[in-house]
Amino acid sequence: MGHIEKNLDRLQQEIHAAAHRSGRKPEEVRLIAVTKNVSIASIEEAIAAGVTTVGENRVQELKNKIHQIHTPVQWHMIGTLQSNKVKYIYDKVDLIHSLDRISLAMAIQKYARLLGRPISCLVEVNVAQEDSKEGLKVEEVPAFLRQVSQLEGIAVQGLMTMAPYTEKPEEVRWVFQRLRELSHEVTESNFNGVTMKELSMGMSNDFKIAVEEGSTMVRVGTAIFGEP
Ligand SMILES: *Cc1c(COP(=O)(O)O)cnc(C)c1O
Repeated sequence: MGHIEKNLDRLQQEIHAAAHRSGRKPEEVRLIAVTKNVSIASIEEAIAAGVTTVGENRVQELKNKIHQIHTPVQWHMIGTLQSNKVKYIYDKVDLIHSLDRISLAMAIQKYARLLGRPISCLVEVNVAQEDSKEGLKVEEVPAFLRQVSQLEGIAVQGLMTMAPYTEKPEEVRWVFQRLRELSHEVTESNFNGVTMKELSMGMSNDFKIAVEEGSTMVRVGTAIFGEP
């Protein structure tokens, strides 16, 4: 077994264990393999070992790689997205994790019209209010979703967050709890075109805690591919 396959094996076991600890079904948690700075050969290796969804955080890299990977796999855009770059990816990705501005929503709307179907997005929330990170403040989310619900062509599927990096992931449990609470609050508003079935939270360092707190998508890079 290569090291990528071994890492994936261990990761799946850890996701299963975390799901069980919190009374959840492991199938409720999807692994997004984050492939930024990862070679095509390594991505192919991960796909061969069972990865079905790949996440990229830069448009250019996603665009380049998508042509080189011939095995069917889903692509997710997980990083900051500029409105003028939506055109490069709108017909290539299955989910955009980083919707956080109305200007971006309007750009996405335009391409959804071209596609003839809604484009699926998650709303990125900067729960811990770190200056270095994108995303809306928790309290801005309901009004933002109300605005987005008035646009055609955007299917909001849930929320995404990045927790601050810490040596002790237990310290960021509250971030994941807060995102889950927010998704419940928003569900009650019943906005048109907005469902809250996905919580994209948890990375290499903190995915176990995120799964315990209800994550449905963990975005993991380093724990699969090693340090870039
Ligand atoms: C890089 C990245 C990840 C994965 O981070 P790791 O610590 O390598 O698991 C997850 N989400 C986003 C948005 C990223 O940019």
